[in-house]
Amino acid sequence: MKLKIMHLFPDLLNLYGDKGNIECMRKRLNWRGIECEVIPFTTEDKTFDLSGVDIVFLGGGSDREQKIVCGSLLEKKSELAAFVENGGSLVAVCGGYQLLGKYYKLEDETIEGLGILDIYTEQGKGRLIGNIVLESDILKQPDNFIVGFENHGGRTYINNHTPLGRVVYGSGNSDKCGYEGVVYKNVVATYLHGPLFPKNPALCDYVLTNALNKRYIGFKGLSPLDDKLEKTANEYIVNRFKK
Ligand code: GLN
Repeated sequence: MKLKIMHLFPDLLNLYGDKGNIECMRKRLNWRGIECEVIPFTTEDKTFDLSGVDIVFLGGGSDREQKIVCGSLLEKKSELAAFVENGGSLVAVCGGYQLLGKYYKLEDETIEGLGILDIYTEQGKGRLIGNIVLESDILKQPDNFIVGFENHGGRTYINNHTPLGRVVYGSGNSDKCGYEGVVYKNVVATYLHGPLFPKNPALCDYVLTNALNKRYIGFKGLSPLDDKLEKTANEYIVNRFKK
């Protein structure tokens, strides 16, 4: 078995080393004897081809970087939308999450988004920075707490979309909404930066399982790994911040 991951704009959208999540996916596949091919698509690349791709990864970036990739991303709007509607897996972090929506409104300009999700983002007063803990319904108990770090000026309004989780500690999509991220079909979009998957192996396996189910009819599920250390670290953070 094999999965193909496309990393979109690794040269620009890689704030906090979001790219490490790809290494985590690769490792967790390889440990189970499943191959993984990673295809980087940089701002220099011209031929965009999603055929055979199972997972697309779009990391975070500053407002400046988002503005740079926006034009190139919009040229791929119909392919990416079709990929998502067809059940392709897409993971988007922070700036990448905002770009999946209709727009990101800054003080003096608006960045157009892909409109794959019916959400929009507006720059608010101050930045929402710090540790964050979520409780998510997409993961089975007791692995249903997602921990991470957020740093964003944008506030995202998700209309009728399902959030990734309820905020137990931290800010999330907007100042007081109580929710974080979006899950839609096989899309996971979140403000949680950096080592999202290493800190939350159950979320990584959720994404991998969706992709394997789509690629291999009759796929029997991922074999368990020894995640004792990862789970202990996750639990420590949950207990540190949960009231
Ligand atoms: N530029 C966006 C914001 O500040 C996203 C930043 C990021 O990816 N950390 O809201």
